[in-house]
Amino acid sequence: MHYSYLIIGGGMTAAAAVQGIREIDTNNPIGLIGAEAQPPYKRPLLSTALWKGEPFAQVWIDIELQDVELFLGRQAQVLDAAGKQVTDDQGTVYTFDKLLLATGGTPRRFPWGSDQIIYYRTLADYRWLRSLTEEGQRFAVIGGGFTGSEIAAALAMNNNYVVMLFPETKISERICGPDLSQFLNNYYGQHQVELLAGERAIGVERRGAQVVLTTQQGMALLVDGVIAGIEIEPNTELAQAAGLKVVRGVLLWNVWGQVDAARRLIVAPGPFQPGDLIRRLPERFAPERSAADVGSAMSEYDAIIEESFPASDPPPGPLALL
Ligand SMILES: Cc1cc2nc3c(=O)[nH]c(=O)nc-3n(C[C@H](O)[C@H](O)[C@H](O)COP(=O)(O)OP(=O)(O)OC[C@H]3O[C@@H](n4cnc5c(N)ncnc54)[C@H](O)[C@@H]3O)c2cc1C
Repeated sequence: MHYSYLIIGGGMTAAAAVQGIREIDTNNPIGLIGAEAQPPYKRPLLSTALWKGEPFAQVWIDIELQDVELFLGRQAQVLDAAGKQVTDDQGTVYTFDKLLLATGGTPRRFPWGSDQIIYYRTLADYRWLRSLTEEGQRFAVIGGGFTGSEIAAALAMNNNYVVMLFPETKISERICGPDLSQFLNNYYGQHQVELLAGERAIGVERRGAQVVLTTQQGMALLVDGVIAGIEIEPNTELAQAAGLKVVRGVLLWNVWGQVDAARRLIVAPGPFQPGDLIRRLPERFAPERSAADVGSAMSEYDAIIEESFPASDPPPGPLALL
Protein backbone atom coordinates (compact mmCIF):
# COMPACT_ATOMS: atom_id res chain seq x y z
CA MET A 1 0.00 0.00 0.00
CA HIS A 2 1.35 3.37 -0.94
CA TYR A 3 0.38 6.70 0.64
CA SER A 4 1.45 10.21 -0.21
CA TYR A 5 1.15 10.88 3.50
CA LEU A 6 1.53 8.21 6.12
CA ILE A 7 0.83 9.05 9.75
CA ILE A 8 1.85 6.82 12.61
CA GLY A 9 -0.20 7.33 15.74
CA GLY A 10 -3.93 7.56 16.20
CA GLY A 11 -4.25 10.40 18.69
CA MET A 12 -5.34 14.01 18.51
CA THR A 13 -2.10 15.13 16.92
CA ALA A 14 -2.56 12.64 14.10
CA ALA A 15 -6.16 13.74 13.60
CA ALA A 16 -5.23 17.41 13.54
CA ALA A 17 -2.39 16.73 11.13
CA VAL A 18 -4.81 14.99 8.77
CA GLN A 19 -6.99 18.08 8.87
CA GLY A 20 -3.97 20.27 8.14
CA ILE A 21 -2.94 18.16 5.16
CA ARG A 22 -6.45 18.29 3.73
CA GLU A 23 -6.48 22.09 4.01
CA ILE A 24 -3.66 22.10 1.45
CA ASP A 25 -4.07 18.85 -0.45
CA THR A 26 -7.52 17.40 -1.02
CA ASN A 27 -6.47 14.68 -3.44
CA ASN A 28 -3.52 12.56 -2.47
CA PRO A 29 -4.03 9.52 -0.25
CA ILE A 30 -3.42 9.62 3.49
CA GLY A 31 -2.92 6.48 5.57
CA LEU A 32 -2.98 6.37 9.36
CA ILE A 33 -1.71 3.53 11.54
CA GLY A 34 -2.98 3.63 15.12
CA ALA A 35 -2.27 1.16 17.90
CA GLU A 36 -5.54 1.74 19.72
CA ALA A 37 -8.59 -0.12 18.45
CA GLN A 38 -10.70 2.98 17.87
CA PRO A 39 -10.29 6.03 15.67
CA PRO A 40 -8.84 9.23 17.19
CA TYR A 41 -10.86 10.71 20.05
CA LYS A 42 -10.69 13.67 22.40
CA ARG A 43 -8.58 12.41 25.26
CA PRO A 44 -9.27 15.32 27.64
CA LEU A 45 -12.96 14.41 27.78
CA LEU A 46 -12.03 11.13 29.47
CA SER A 47 -11.36 12.94 32.72
CA THR A 48 -13.89 15.74 32.43
CA ALA A 49 -17.03 15.86 30.28
CA LEU A 50 -17.75 12.13 30.37
CA TRP A 51 -17.95 12.28 34.16
CA LYS A 52 -20.28 15.26 34.05
CA GLY A 53 -22.96 13.45 32.12
CA GLU A 54 -22.05 14.72 28.66
CA PRO A 55 -22.96 12.30 25.84
CA PHE A 56 -20.28 9.75 25.08
CA ALA A 57 -20.52 10.51 21.35
CA GLN A 58 -18.74 13.80 21.99
CA VAL A 59 -15.41 12.03 22.28
CA TRP A 60 -15.15 11.20 18.61
CA ILE A 61 -13.26 13.30 16.09
CA ASP A 62 -14.76 13.31 12.61
CA ILE A 63 -11.61 12.08 10.96
CA GLU A 64 -13.36 9.90 8.35
CA LEU A 65 -14.73 13.07 6.76
CA GLN A 66 -11.15 13.94 5.86
CA ASP A 67 -10.77 11.01 3.48
CA VAL A 68 -8.10 9.04 5.28
CA GLU A 69 -7.55 5.30 5.36
CA LEU A 70 -7.36 4.05 8.95
CA PHE A 71 -5.38 1.00 10.08
CA LEU A 72 -6.39 0.61 13.70
CA GLY A 73 -5.30 -1.84 16.36
CA ARG A 74 -1.95 -2.02 14.61
CA GLN A 75 1.46 -1.08 15.90
CA ALA A 76 3.97 0.30 13.43
CA GLN A 77 6.98 -1.82 14.25
CA VAL A 78 9.72 -1.12 11.73
CA LEU A 79 10.47 2.13 10.00
CA ASP A 80 12.85 2.11 7.07
CA ALA A 81 13.21 5.86 6.63
CA ALA A 82 15.62 5.66 3.68
CA GLY A 83 13.52 3.03 1.90
CA LYS A 84 10.38 5.01 2.80
CA GLN A 85 8.46 2.11 4.20
CA VAL A 86 6.84 1.02 7.43
CA THR A 87 5.93 -2.49 8.56
CA ASP A 88 3.26 -3.05 11.19
CA ASP A 89 2.88 -5.84 13.74
CA GLN A 90 0.68 -7.83 11.35
CA GLY A 91 3.37 -7.78 8.67
CA THR A 92 1.62 -5.24 6.45
CA VAL A 93 4.04 -3.02 4.56
CA TYR A 94 3.18 0.60 3.80
CA THR A 95 5.24 2.82 1.55
CA PHE A 96 5.07 6.58 1.68
CA ASP A 97 6.24 9.84 0.19
CA LYS A 98 6.05 11.69 3.50
CA LEU A 99 5.81 10.32 6.97
CA LEU A 100 4.61 11.86 10.18
CA LEU A 101 5.36 10.30 13.54
CA ALA A 102 2.69 11.34 15.99
CA THR A 103 3.21 8.55 18.46
CA GLY A 104 2.48 10.55 21.59
CA GLY A 105 3.32 9.17 24.99
CA THR A 106 2.80 6.23 27.31
CA PRO A 107 2.14 6.58 31.04
CA ARG A 108 5.04 5.94 33.37
CA ARG A 109 4.40 2.87 35.47
CA PHE A 110 5.53 1.54 38.81
CA PRO A 111 7.65 -1.60 38.67
CA TRP A 112 4.94 -3.39 40.67
CA GLY A 113 1.25 -4.15 40.47
CA SER A 114 0.79 -3.23 36.84
CA ASP A 115 -2.43 -5.13 36.17
CA GLN A 116 -4.04 -3.73 39.35
CA ILE A 117 -3.51 -0.07 38.48
CA ILE A 118 -5.27 2.04 35.87
CA TYR A 119 -2.62 4.28 34.33
CA TYR A 120 -5.27 6.61 33.07
CA ARG A 121 -4.78 7.61 29.43
CA THR A 122 -7.00 5.76 26.97
CA LEU A 123 -10.62 5.11 26.21
CA ALA A 124 -10.04 1.55 27.44
CA ASP A 125 -8.88 3.02 30.77
CA TYR A 126 -12.01 5.15 30.96
CA ARG A 127 -14.18 2.08 30.36
CA TRP A 128 -12.27 0.09 32.96
CA LEU A 129 -12.70 2.79 35.58
CA ARG A 130 -16.37 3.25 34.70
CA SER A 131 -16.98 -0.45 35.22
CA LEU A 132 -15.27 -0.30 38.63
CA THR A 133 -17.48 2.61 39.70
CA GLU A 134 -20.50 0.46 38.96
CA GLU A 135 -19.26 -2.06 41.56
CA GLY A 136 -17.59 0.08 44.23
CA GLN A 137 -17.23 3.57 45.63
CA ARG A 138 -13.78 3.79 47.19
CA PHE A 139 -10.82 4.75 45.04
CA ALA A 140 -7.19 5.66 45.50
CA VAL A 141 -5.61 8.12 43.11
CA ILE A 142 -1.84 8.23 42.91
CA GLY A 143 -0.39 11.52 41.70
CA GLY A 144 -1.30 15.13 42.36
CA GLY A 145 -0.77 16.53 38.87
CA PHE A 146 -3.35 17.23 36.18
CA THR A 147 -4.42 13.65 35.55
CA GLY A 148 -4.60 12.69 39.21
CA SER A 149 -6.48 15.81 40.27
CA GLU A 150 -8.93 15.58 37.37
CA ILE A 151 -9.70 11.94 38.01
CA ALA A 152 -10.09 12.54 41.74
CA ALA A 153 -12.56 15.34 41.00
CA ALA A 154 -14.42 13.23 38.43
CA LEU A 155 -14.81 10.37 40.89
CA ALA A 156 -15.80 12.62 43.79
CA MET A 157 -18.47 14.42 41.77
CA ASN A 158 -19.93 10.99 40.99
CA ASN A 159 -20.38 10.23 44.68
CA ASN A 160 -17.27 8.19 45.22
CA TYR A 161 -14.95 8.43 48.16
CA VAL A 162 -11.41 9.22 47.02
CA VAL A 163 -8.03 9.07 48.69
CA MET A 164 -5.42 11.00 46.76
CA LEU A 165 -1.73 10.57 47.52
CA PHE A 166 1.27 12.42 46.19
CA PRO A 167 4.77 13.20 47.41
CA GLU A 168 4.39 16.98 47.21
CA THR A 169 2.66 18.98 49.93
CA LYS A 170 -0.08 20.37 47.67
CA ILE A 171 -2.06 19.50 44.55
CA SER A 172 -0.38 20.56 41.29
CA GLU A 173 2.07 22.63 43.30
CA ARG A 174 4.68 22.90 40.57
CA ILE A 175 2.18 24.24 38.06
CA CYS A 176 -0.22 26.24 40.18
CA GLY A 177 2.10 27.83 42.73
CA PRO A 178 1.60 27.87 46.50
CA ASP A 179 -1.62 29.91 46.81
CA LEU A 180 -3.72 28.21 44.17
CA SER A 181 -2.50 24.77 45.14
CA GLN A 182 -3.35 25.49 48.79
CA PHE A 183 -6.82 26.51 47.62
CA LEU A 184 -7.07 23.20 45.72
CA ASN A 185 -6.02 21.26 48.81
CA ASN A 186 -8.77 22.91 50.83
CA TYR A 187 -11.36 22.57 48.08
CA TYR A 188 -10.70 18.89 47.45
CA GLY A 189 -10.71 18.24 51.19
CA GLN A 190 -14.21 19.71 51.41
CA HIS A 191 -15.46 17.52 48.54
CA GLN A 192 -14.98 13.90 49.55
CA VAL A 193 -11.31 13.71 48.65
CA GLU A 194 -8.97 12.74 51.43
CA LEU A 195 -5.48 14.03 50.74
CA LEU A 196 -2.39 12.11 51.73
CA ALA A 197 0.18 14.76 50.88
CA GLY A 198 3.87 13.93 51.26
CA GLU A 199 3.03 10.27 50.75
CA ARG A 200 4.10 7.65 48.19
CA ALA A 201 2.53 4.41 47.05
CA ILE A 202 4.88 1.46 47.36
CA GLY A 203 2.80 -1.61 46.53
CA VAL A 204 -0.57 -3.03 45.69
CA GLU A 205 -2.15 -6.43 46.05
CA ARG A 206 -5.52 -7.89 45.25
CA ARG A 207 -7.89 -8.84 48.04
CA GLY A 208 -11.00 -10.43 46.59
CA ALA A 209 -12.75 -7.90 44.40
CA GLN A 210 -10.78 -5.08 46.03
CA VAL A 211 -7.15 -4.04 46.21
CA VAL A 212 -4.92 -2.94 49.05
CA LEU A 213 -2.58 -0.07 48.31
CA THR A 214 0.32 0.28 50.70
CA THR A 215 2.17 3.51 51.33
CA GLN A 216 5.65 4.49 52.36
CA GLN A 217 4.44 5.65 55.76
CA GLY A 218 2.84 2.30 56.48
CA MET A 219 -0.79 2.82 55.54
CA ALA A 220 -2.86 0.09 53.87
CA LEU A 221 -5.77 1.46 51.84
CA LEU A 222 -8.53 -0.98 50.96
CA VAL A 223 -10.17 0.33 47.80
CA ASP A 224 -12.21 -0.72 44.78
CA GLY A 225 -9.72 0.66 42.31
CA VAL A 226 -6.36 2.41 42.02
CA ILE A 227 -5.73 5.05 39.38
CA ALA A 228 -2.34 6.55 38.69
CA GLY A 229 -1.29 9.66 36.83
CA ILE A 230 2.46 9.86 37.23
CA GLU A 231 3.46 11.49 33.95
CA ILE A 232 4.12 10.06 30.54
CA GLU A 233 7.16 9.13 28.51
CA PRO A 234 7.35 10.08 24.83
CA ASN A 235 7.08 7.15 22.41
CA THR A 236 10.33 7.62 20.53
CA GLU A 237 11.39 4.00 20.07
CA LEU A 238 10.31 3.69 16.47
CA ALA A 239 12.14 6.84 15.43
CA GLN A 240 15.23 5.92 17.40
CA ALA A 241 15.35 2.39 15.99
CA ALA A 242 15.09 3.88 12.51
CA GLY A 243 18.09 6.07 13.19
CA LEU A 244 16.10 9.27 13.05
CA LYS A 245 17.41 11.90 15.33
CA VAL A 246 15.12 12.40 18.23
CA VAL A 247 14.03 15.06 18.56
CA ARG A 248 15.26 18.38 17.27
CA GLY A 249 12.65 19.17 14.70
CA VAL A 250 9.13 20.13 15.41
CA LEU A 251 8.09 20.30 18.99
CA LEU A 252 4.45 21.07 19.46
CA TRP A 253 2.26 22.74 21.89
CA ASN A 254 -0.79 20.67 22.17
CA VAL A 255 -4.11 21.98 21.02
CA TRP A 256 -4.72 23.69 24.35
CA GLY A 257 -1.38 25.45 24.20
CA GLN A 258 0.55 23.56 26.82
CA VAL A 259 3.88 21.96 26.21
CA ASP A 260 3.58 18.23 26.35
CA ALA A 261 6.80 16.32 26.08
CA ALA A 262 5.02 13.54 24.26
CA ARG A 263 4.04 15.74 21.39
CA ARG A 264 7.14 15.40 19.30
CA LEU A 265 6.61 15.11 15.62
CA ILE A 266 9.23 13.96 13.24
CA VAL A 267 8.95 13.90 9.49
CA ALA A 268 11.16 11.40 7.73
CA PRO A 269 14.06 12.71 5.66
CA GLY A 270 13.63 14.10 2.22
CA PRO A 271 15.21 17.03 0.40
CA PHE A 272 15.68 19.49 3.20
CA GLN A 273 14.53 23.09 2.85
CA PRO A 274 15.27 24.50 6.25
CA GLY A 275 15.50 28.10 5.18
CA ASP A 276 12.05 28.15 3.66
CA LEU A 277 10.46 26.50 6.57
CA ILE A 278 12.09 28.53 9.28
CA ARG A 279 11.26 31.78 7.50
CA ARG A 280 7.62 30.89 7.28
CA LEU A 281 7.09 29.45 10.71
CA PRO A 282 6.39 32.55 12.80
CA GLU A 283 3.58 33.74 10.55
CA ARG A 284 2.15 30.37 9.76
CA PHE A 285 2.11 28.47 13.00
CA ALA A 286 -0.41 29.21 15.70
CA PRO A 287 -0.03 27.32 18.95
CA GLU A 288 -3.72 26.63 19.33
CA ARG A 289 -3.78 24.64 16.09
CA SER A 290 -0.17 23.64 15.80
CA ALA A 291 -0.76 19.99 14.91
CA ALA A 292 -2.94 20.99 11.98
CA ASP A 293 -0.26 23.46 10.93
CA VAL A 294 2.31 20.70 10.93
CA GLY A 295 0.02 18.68 8.71
CA SER A 296 -0.21 21.61 6.32
CA ALA A 297 3.54 22.08 6.39
CA MET A 298 3.96 18.39 5.72
CA SER A 299 2.02 18.70 2.50
CA GLU A 300 4.04 21.70 1.38
CA TYR A 301 7.57 20.66 2.28
CA ASP A 302 9.66 17.62 1.76
CA ALA A 303 11.07 17.56 5.22
CA ILE A 304 10.83 19.08 8.65
CA ILE A 305 14.06 17.86 10.08
CA GLU A 306 16.18 17.96 12.87
CA GLU A 307 19.56 17.60 14.26
CA SER A 308 19.63 15.83 17.53
CA PHE A 309 19.54 16.84 21.11
CA PRO A 310 19.12 14.48 24.00
CA ALA A 311 15.55 13.43 24.65
CA SER A 312 16.01 14.56 28.24
CA ASP A 313 16.49 18.20 27.24
CA PRO A 314 13.66 20.46 28.34
CA PRO A 315 11.24 21.64 25.68
CA PRO A 316 12.74 24.79 24.21
CA GLY A 317 9.57 26.70 23.53
CA PRO A 318 6.04 26.67 22.26
CA LEU A 319 6.76 25.51 18.77
CA ALA A 320 10.32 25.30 17.74
CA LEU A 321 12.16 24.42 14.62
CA LEU A 322 15.68 24.27 15.83
C1 LIG B 1 -7.31 12.13 30.91
C2 LIG B 1 -6.55 13.19 30.14
C3 LIG B 1 -6.96 14.51 30.19
C4 LIG B 1 -6.28 15.48 29.49
N1 LIG B 1 -6.71 16.77 29.56
C5 LIG B 1 -6.04 17.72 28.90
C6 LIG B 1 -6.46 19.07 28.94
O1 LIG B 1 -7.46 19.40 29.58
N2 LIG B 1 -5.73 19.99 28.28
C7 LIG B 1 -4.63 19.64 27.57
O2 LIG B 1 -4.00 20.51 26.99
N3 LIG B 1 -4.22 18.36 27.48
C8 LIG B 1 -4.89 17.41 28.13
N4 LIG B 1 -4.46 16.11 28.06
C9 LIG B 1 -3.28 15.81 27.24
C10 LIG B 1 -3.70 15.64 25.80
O3 LIG B 1 -4.78 14.75 25.72
C11 LIG B 1 -2.51 15.12 25.03
O4 LIG B 1 -1.55 16.12 25.01
C12 LIG B 1 -2.87 14.70 23.63
O5 LIG B 1 -3.93 13.78 23.61
C13 LIG B 1 -1.66 14.09 22.97
O6 LIG B 1 -2.04 13.69 21.67
P1 LIG B 1 -1.03 12.93 20.73
O7 LIG B 1 -1.81 12.51 19.54
O8 LIG B 1 0.18 13.76 20.49
O9 LIG B 1 -0.51 11.69 21.56
P2 LIG B 1 -1.33 10.45 22.16
O10 LIG B 1 -2.65 10.89 22.65
O11 LIG B 1 -0.41 9.77 23.10
O12 LIG B 1 -1.61 9.55 20.91
C14 LIG B 1 -0.62 8.80 20.29
C15 LIG B 1 -1.28 7.60 19.70
O13 LIG B 1 -0.33 6.92 18.90
C16 LIG B 1 -0.40 5.55 19.17
N5 LIG B 1 0.91 4.95 18.87
C17 LIG B 1 2.06 5.11 19.55
N6 LIG B 1 3.05 4.40 18.96
C18 LIG B 1 2.49 3.80 17.88
C19 LIG B 1 2.98 2.93 16.88
N7 LIG B 1 4.27 2.54 16.84
N8 LIG B 1 2.13 2.48 15.92
C20 LIG B 1 0.85 2.87 15.92
N9 LIG B 1 0.31 3.71 16.85
C21 LIG B 1 1.14 4.15 17.81
C22 LIG B 1 -0.78 5.46 20.62
O14 LIG B 1 -1.37 4.21 20.92
C23 LIG B 1 -1.77 6.61 20.73
O15 LIG B 1 -3.06 6.19 20.39
C24 LIG B 1 -5.14 15.12 28.75
C25 LIG B 1 -4.71 13.79 28.69
C26 LIG B 1 -5.42 12.84 29.39
C27 LIG B 1 -4.95 11.40 29.32
